[in-house]
Amino acid sequence: MKSVNLTRETAARRAELLDVNSYTVHLILPPNGERFLSRTVIDVACHEPGATTFLDLRGAEILQATLNGCTLDVAAYNNHRSDGGETGHDGLELPNLEESNEIVVEAWCTYSTTGEGLHRAVDAADGTVYLYSQAEPADAKRIFACFDQPDLKAPIALTVSAPERWELIGNSNIVETTPTTPAEAIYVGSVENPVTHTFETTKPLPPYLFAICAGPYSKWSDSYSWTGDDGTEITIPLNLYCRETLAEYFDPERIFELTKGGFDYYHNTFGVPYGFNGSYDQVFVPDFNFGAMENVGCVVYREDYVFRSQATAGKYERRADTVLHEMAHMWFGNLVTMKWWDDLWLNESFASWASVMAQLGSTNYQEAWTTFTSTQKNWAYRQDDLPSTHPIAAKMDDLQEMEANFDGITYAKGCSVLKQLVAYAGLEQFLKGLHDYLVEHSYSNATFDDLLKAVSAYTDKDFAAWAEKWLTTTGRNDIGVDVEVGDDGTYHSVSVYQTGAKPGAGELRPHRLGVGLYRFQDDELVRTDYAEVELDGERAEIPELVGKPAADLVLPNDKDLTYCQLQLDDRSTETVLHHIEKMPDSLARTLAWGVLEERTMHAKLPASQLVETLIRALPAESALPVAEHLMARGVQLLRRFVDPAWAEAEGWDRYAHMLLAIAREPQHGRDQQLIAMNALCACALPQEIVELLECGLDEGLSAIGVEGLELDTDLRWTMMAALAAHGAVTQEDIDAALEEDSTSMGVRRAHTASAALPSAENKERVWELLLSSGEDAPSNWTLVALLDGFTWAGQDELLQPYVARYGAEMPGLWTRRTGEIATTFTQRAFPMWGAVDEVDSVMEQMLAENPDLPAGAQRYVKEGLFDSRRAAKARELDSELARLDD
Ligand SMILES: [Zn+2]
Repeated sequence: MKSVNLTRETAARRAELLDVNSYTVHLILPPNGERFLSRTVIDVACHEPGATTFLDLRGAEILQATLNGCTLDVAAYNNHRSDGGETGHDGLELPNLEESNEIVVEAWCTYSTTGEGLHRAVDAADGTVYLYSQAEPADAKRIFACFDQPDLKAPIALTVSAPERWELIGNSNIVETTPTTPAEAIYVGSVENPVTHTFETTKPLPPYLFAICAGPYSKWSDSYSWTGDDGTEITIPLNLYCRETLAEYFDPERIFELTKGGFDYYHNTFGVPYGFNGSYDQVFVPDFNFGAMENVGCVVYREDYVFRSQATAGKYERRADTVLHEMAHMWFGNLVTMKWWDDLWLNESFASWASVMAQLGSTNYQEAWTTFTSTQKNWAYRQDDLPSTHPIAAKMDDLQEMEANFDGITYAKGCSVLKQLVAYAGLEQFLKGLHDYLVEHSYSNATFDDLLKAVSAYTDKDFAAWAEKWLTTTGRNDIGVDVEVGDDGTYHSVSVYQTGAKPGAGELRPHRLGVGLYRFQDDELVRTDYAEVELDGERAEIPELVGKPAADLVLPNDKDLTYCQLQLDDRSTETVLHHIEKMPDSLARTLAWGVLEERTMHAKLPASQLVETLIRALPAESALPVAEHLMARGVQLLRRFVDPAWAEAEGWDRYAHMLLAIAREPQHGRDQQLIAMNALCACALPQEIVELLECGLDEGLSAIGVEGLELDTDLRWTMMAALAAHGAVTQEDIDAALEEDSTSMGVRRAHTASAALPSAENKERVWELLLSSGEDAPSNWTLVALLDGFTWAGQDELLQPYVARYGAEMPGLWTRRTGEIATTFTQRAFPMWGAVDEVDSVMEQMLAENPDLPAGAQRYVKEGLFDSRRAAKARELDSELARLDD
């Protein structure tokens, strides 16, 4: 599998051998059928004439291929199908290259239904077809023959033949449109009036940033201008697109405003103009696997960012974060690209960091770091606890390894550590170095060392030592504060300590961090003192805090400057557990919530105590993204971490009533009410609330005391799924709801509701569907929708048979379906509901019997096992507490 699972070594050899001068790509896109025609001409120089290498092309049937006019033998390629039924695992051999070469490949390529390569989606509401591409990390080769690695950049000249009524959106602008020749028109279908669009040749791009979207997308236009200090003027046309059936819900003004603010911010901050020709297009597409993708000049977003129903402020904030993240990549990642995927972390961490900076600098989202701490950083912390954790700067030996590393370490730990790096270098110095780096490596590739070198020119800090300790190690240091209180009630000494990072080799690291002292004043818990300190060895004294009266809460890492496992002393833990809602500072409060969550996960705090705190304090939580995160966390705690007897006897009941009470209080605001309703519907519900939801769905929300919240399409579906899971609606009711909302989104929501119906026969039906291949195989989004319903809270008994079946049937999916689909199933269907002993033995046996399971699959199973054991420990602690109470 040298092409599909390209190794770093093979890629390095190919980069040494070749200079790709240009790609000329012609795509013929029929709206119907399973495949499209792709013709590529490549102009490539070879530094060692006579050498042999290979070209990447996946899942295709090659019609003809020539190298310097000589026909290549394509029979071996066409006949070699791997287990997944796909061609192209070894690529197409290119023997005996000359100094300059012309390669021509014409092939039938396959439309994807999994979001990899050129995806084809059919709108359920009106039957129209929409195409979009996703080429990262290495799926450009599903669209055209190429050298699919980041450090072989080349300009791309693209022409596309497609139905006349379609919008075509690519990396650059269309410069000419002509009728398609009759010979080619046949492939598109002559009723479609095919036309051929010629796109302007792009700047040099790596194949993974190639993009094409096609279909009857609705379009909005605007433009952006900027004048640099030296008088440089640039104007960038801006376009937005989404499916026709979603157009009425789209809010282009808001996104244009955000886009212009972002461009202003990055231009002024980086001091380097946007580097690509053509318009900056943003396309919202169906069935997208990720939040978004930063293709040059053609950013693709998941369609959930078009809000067809009422959306919370948190969702708008997340969308803004994504828009600004992708835009940052236009400089960092697209203008200057990593050499190999080893620097994936830097690419993603930089964009995440820049996005928060841009939100603070150009939007109303002034609590962007609080949101980051609550969502992203907690994600990193969870991932970093797992035995599978890895250094931020991981050596990615091949593509399989890299694909498994699109995780919390790469995105969120990397970003937290980059934030430390900027604090260490100084923002001004960092930005000066960044400017030089962007100028020096424009349209080319670079590494992290190149960035450090550029920043080093402006400071005398030792980055090599710093990078070694932060980037090549794993795990977290515990950080806490030791105090000595004298007879007079004041501190005689205050020091901050760290322990060796774990899991891992136990390194100490350099930290810059804050320590806050909090005391009760007028029933608020306020910060009365604060000091910052450099901690390099095991311990550092904080003389500024000596002599202060003993505080009710001592908060290490206050203001969240560093990345660590925060330890609270006993008094502080008690204070937080009983008074967290009295902390007015949202970032400090979020840190305190994080400590409680972690202590629960690590079986140091009984989970039911945190649920009690949530029941008391959540109604007062005013930071919406934090509240949303915590509401979902409560559901998870009740499902997996608390004593099951307590959850059943009172936990679920009281938690659900708390959420209902929030939803019934209009003074909380619509956003708070909506997230509470959503969380409520994910609970295992007491019968009276099930009846209440039934009544609400029939008679409207006012009938159940929820005023000020609209019962819109998506909230209806959310309630419908909850009712389905509790057996209060039938498949017929779901079908009737689908008649009312026969959109693609409706179909997806119906899948979830129907998969949640609580009968053994239904679970069996869904399981079969999840694992099917061939024509019935679920697409990527259908799979997720089905799994959401299949694994519903409170159905653990029904799901018992699927512990053993997961072990027996999951491995086969890795050979029958694509990596994206198999990954989704392996992670989301992992039987968290199973008894820990059974899960243990089933998984151990499965791993032993399937030594060839891809590294990613093995890793996800081991992570699942770790989580399952951890939850069991937490339940045990909580049950012990219950026995003590009895
Ligand atoms: Zn990114």
